[in-house]
Amino acid sequence: MLLLLSVVLIACSMSARKPIKTLIITGQNNHNWQVSHLVLRDILENSGLFTVDFAISPEKGQDMSNFIINFKPYQLVVLDYNGDEWPQLTKTRFEEYAQKGGGIIVYHAADNSFPHWEEFNKICALGGWEGRNENAGPYAYWSDGELTKDFSPGIGGAHGSQHEYILIGRDGEHPIVNGLPNRWAHAKDELYGLMRGPANIASLLYTSFSDKSVGGSGREEPLIFTVDYGKTRIFHTMLGHCGPTYQDNPAMQCTGFQVTLLRGAEWAATGKVTQKVPKDFPTSSFITYRFDYKEAVE
Ligand code: ZN
Repeated sequence: MLLLLSVVLIACSMSARKPIKTLIITGQNNHNWQVSHLVLRDILENSGLFTVDFAISPEKGQDMSNFIINFKPYQLVVLDYNGDEWPQLTKTRFEEYAQKGGGIIVYHAADNSFPHWEEFNKICALGGWEGRNENAGPYAYWSDGELTKDFSPGIGGAHGSQHEYILIGRDGEHPIVNGLPNRWAHAKDELYGLMRGPANIASLLYTSFSDKSVGGSGREEPLIFTVDYGKTRIFHTMLGHCGPTYQDNPAMQCTGFQVTLLRGAEWAATGKVTQKVPKDFPTSSFITYRFDYKEAVE
């Protein structure tokens, strides 16, 4: 009987999954990183699937030489950084982490950073601003039922005024989006457009139409996708412009943002998504919110 009990206990402890060790890199951003990195942590940790550490850089213009990151303990790295160049050792280690298949999330303005770092731009697939133009690579947008690459000259990166918009699914089979509605309404946010880069998108998950009436590009823009980068799993979400405070932060409080982030994060770290489709996911006509960054207990 005692033997049987210990066998059962071992089986139970094995089935309790170890949380995914995650590192959020931040400390400089043209956005409110002081809030966004805490929100990202809380979304991830409140799911029970992740434990999060931070790597916080010196302030802009300060000496970066001691900003040395050890990526080895982590299964997932979340980029919430847009600022000064990292020291070469940290860049090299990040490339090694990526090339060995470590999971990566590119979040919102992280894809603005490092316009001249070639490997970084391959990890993002698309980026914007910071002087990007046709030399950064083509535009990529949805046209005539497929992802079109457009090599015409012009700026890289733009957005109109913030507004609510509809995300449209383009690859319903991918584990990140499988079971989610094909159209869902997103809270007030920026809608990135005219992004440029190597455009090595692996699976285009969601696009949204960038309406000229609100200063947009007039194109169906890729906003959530995975990146083709060897065996590495990279999830890139352009959603989630951070609001002024933790409590006043609609784009990140949107359930659709949080759920796609959580599913993308699990997939990037493990290659699988074990999360069920939640009942509070938005529909094409109703935006839903998780104001405290967690799923409501029923
Ligand atoms: Zn923004």
